[in-house]
Amino acid sequence: MARRKKIYEGKAKILYEGPEPGTIVQYFKDDATAFNAQKKDVVDGKGVLNNRLSEFFMTGLNEIGVPTHFIKRLNMREQLVKACEIVPLEVIVRNFAAGSMSQRLGIEEGTRLPRPIVEYCYKDDKLGDPLVTEEHIAAFGWASPQDMDDILSLALRVNDYLSGLMYGVGIKLVDFKIEIGRVYDGDFQRLIVADEISPDSCRLWDIETGKKLDKDVFRRDLGSLTDAYTEVATRLGVMPRKATPMEKPKLIN
Ligand code: C5P
Repeated sequence: MARRKKIYEGKAKILYEGPEPGTIVQYFKDDATAFNAQKKDVVDGKGVLNNRLSEFFMTGLNEIGVPTHFIKRLNMREQLVKACEIVPLEVIVRNFAAGSMSQRLGIEEGTRLPRPIVEYCYKDDKLGDPLVTEEHIAAFGWASPQDMDDILSLALRVNDYLSGLMYGVGIKLVDFKIEIGRVYDGDFQRLIVADEISPDSCRLWDIETGKKLDKDVFRRDLGSLTDAYTEVATRLGVMPRKATPMEKPKLIN
């Protein structure tokens, strides 16, 4: 069998050339990194959980008319996605203050924001993904003003969808990050939600207890990351409710 071509390897995922032109296979690794990869570990089962959760969120978004790169899940760790050109921005939506916003502005973590706030960071690991404004984005040509209107609208629709979904299972969507891809239909380009949506890229707190069910468990050494992600997957019905530690996802490498 021919060896497939690796296109890119990131901190948590590997991209391979897909079976058809315009497709890519996205492989979810178990590697966990934080603080721009200064903290690293391998978390058994994380890739399997994120593959399933990202499938779940992206499928729901596709169904309500928010376009995403997701085509189908291939196996425990891989999904087929549309090839797209990634806009070099991390689009962050915040409903409650936390993380870098709390540090930057001195707002206590958990404070509800007056309305969802959308921030943009320039995707560059060497620079630590710095916060940028729409002025930088337009001046440096990372996205046009029309693209920015579409990106804002996509980000807020994803926020409404995810907030409601999470609220229904007793989880508060504090904030999340998405990435946006460009796909071309002839001469026209469309913007779609790309990369992944998973507890790696969201802050998720239990509404009753405030317990963290996201990557902060790893960043802040708060316990088992797999247990936290399994809890999210179980509540959403993505994993069977009766799952015991013995029944955790089998790992396929
Ligand atoms: O660290 P900060 O508070 O800016 O993160 C905001 C949100 O964006 C969090 O949910 C975090 O998990 C996510 N994020 C991410 N990838 C990054 C930076 C932030 O998924 N490189």
